[in-house]
Amino acid sequence: MDQRIGAGVWRENAACRGSFGSLFYPPQKGEKRSDRKSREERAKWICARCQVRLDCLDEALASNESTGIWGGLNELERRGLGFEGSTSYGFDKESFIK
Ligand code: SF4
Repeated sequence: MDQRIGAGVWRENAACRGSFGSLFYPPQKGEKRSDRKSREERAKWICARCQVRLDCLDEALASNESTGIWGGLNELERRGLGFEGSTSYGFDKESFIK
């Protein structure tokens, strides 16, 4: 997705590259809860098939991404992992995103 181009090589293999950007971030004007749920489900469906999902999640956690779907998780779900700003998890993070 355009907002993520510019850093890691993993981005070249991102399943969201192209025209899916609007699925991964909320619209600036806001959205209804039901619209958000639908949008996020579609984004997560793409993430579930993405070969660089863990790299994406790593970057979001390390950079404290405050919005959007990264690695198949929204910002609230990432906060729930409790490891913002660190890539030293001390657990098998793959188990959190399956
Ligand atoms: S995990 Fe999702 S947001 Fe991250 S690169 Fe893959 S498709 Fe894009």
